[in-house]
Amino acid sequence: NEEQIALFTIFGGTGDLARRKLYPSLFRLYRKGFLKNKFAVIGTARREWTDDYYREVITTSIDALSPTEEEALAFSSHFYYQAHNVMDSAHYHSLKELADELDEKYQLEGNRLFYLAMAPNFFGTIVDHLKSEQIIDTRGYSRLIIEKPFGSSFESAQQLNEQIRAVFNEEQIFRIDHYLGKEMIQNISAVRFGNYIFESLWNNHYIDNIQVTLAEDLGVEDRGGYYDKSGALKDMIQNHILQVVALLAMEVPNTFSEKTIREEKIKALKAVRIYSEEEALENFVRGQYVSNTFNGKDIISYREETNVAPDSRTETFVAGKLVIDNFRWKGVPFYIRTGKQLTTKAARINVVFKPSPVNIFNPEDVCKTLPQNILTIYIQPTEGFSLTLNGKEVGPGFHLDPVKLDYRNTAEIIENSPEAYEKLVLDALKGDATNFTHWDEVSQSWRIVDVIRQAWDKEEGDIPTYKAGTMGPAEAFDLIKRENDDWVWKP
Ligand code: NAD
Repeated sequence: NEEQIALFTIFGGTGDLARRKLYPSLFRLYRKGFLKNKFAVIGTARREWTDDYYREVITTSIDALSPTEEEALAFSSHFYYQAHNVMDSAHYHSLKELADELDEKYQLEGNRLFYLAMAPNFFGTIVDHLKSEQIIDTRGYSRLIIEKPFGSSFESAQQLNEQIRAVFNEEQIFRIDHYLGKEMIQNISAVRFGNYIFESLWNNHYIDNIQVTLAEDLGVEDRGGYYDKSGALKDMIQNHILQVVALLAMEVPNTFSEKTIREEKIKALKAVRIYSEEEALENFVRGQYVSNTFNGKDIISYREETNVAPDSRTETFVAGKLVIDNFRWKGVPFYIRTGKQLTTKAARINVVFKPSPVNIFNPEDVCKTLPQNILTIYIQPTEGFSLTLNGKEVGPGFHLDPVKLDYRNTAEIIENSPEAYEKLVLDALKGDATNFTHWDEVSQSWRIVDVIRQAWDKEEGDIPTYKAGTMGPAEAFDLIKRENDDWVWKP
């Protein structure tokens, strides 16, 4: 494992994301030897912490990975804390001094990664200052890692992008979509392009429809304030789901490289039809969860959650049908759905193939369709894939029986596989942006969802509801049945 040399500056170093994801990921990289002696981390946030206290926090955050005392001590010694209000110019001056000092102390060759683990409204100010205070004027590389959400509409995303691009060029910007770091998301390409049997069927001649479900079994937890302003459309569809759709729909890249994959994903997203507001209302439905007793637990309504408006019209569920206007996908609906407080937590893709054109096993009615073949890619919580085929039921007569060829990664493999954030941080250290989102993808995704948002915002009255613990409102089932299809996955 090749040693990576860099100084990390984490804005929002006391925050939830930093503690839950970043520090453990850095530790995993350290353990594997990707980070050794030539790395240092500056954590910054408003609170007045000492280095010692910060190192205690680091040690606690990696507790679950059971480091030895020695390991924890050695690792956390690379962490430095600086109290810093990102709005205050003077603070950047001391940040630069500390950065230069650590650069020399750890021989970091001027390589700098800036991780913005803070609310997006600060991104612009931070990058402006990184430039004006010459923090990025080094002989090494400077890279920026930014968390979602990237804007809240096409327009705001564009503004933010312009502000960032005045300082960093596109190759230096790593927009995180942690879904892209997941093993099974990356496996979509392996399944598609490593198996000619699938790629040759991967089109509107043989595929009937494709379904993407990202279901969560929790509510908004303590993020009600953020979520109530965002909603499922912006929180899940604009980024994760559209990225998955792009990977499923894209053409075969010439080689498996950052540039070619990106080009194909962008082309695919550009082929997703941008609806008129009227079409958006026809093809997309939303819902909000209401209280229910499920699995022996009393679940409160979304409107009763902390920091959520009591008359909130924010959607906690979205289902929709996307149409892709190109040769490969004309006529193949992509059904997508996501929501909070659903029956179970799971992410999966179902590729539903067309049935055999004639049912020769049923001479009375050869048009009676046979069960459809389905390729399922399981992303979470189990990882793997399955293929449903029709076989002959053992016994007299001739009855078909769907059988499932099923492969799941073992719990042990999953346990030992790198976390999404770990992979993404390593990619950023190596300068590989394959699993990050390019501006062209972000902007096109906003164009797709903006219309839906606008159409919904013009509607008055309450939005559809669904009982917590179910798979969404009745409207989500009507939507797909209208097309004579059905959700394959019904937990
Ligand atoms: P958080 O509220 O826990 O942390 C925010 C951090 O910003 C804190 O360290 C706080 O001290 C710091 N901060 C706030 N105002 C500041 C100022 N003026 N000057 C300096 N520091 C300031 O938030 P979080 O949950 O860690 O999320 C951070 C970012 O990551 C957000 O953009 C969020 O949308 C995104 N994100 C978070 C998660 C998650 O699981 N928490 C998941 C995906 C994306």
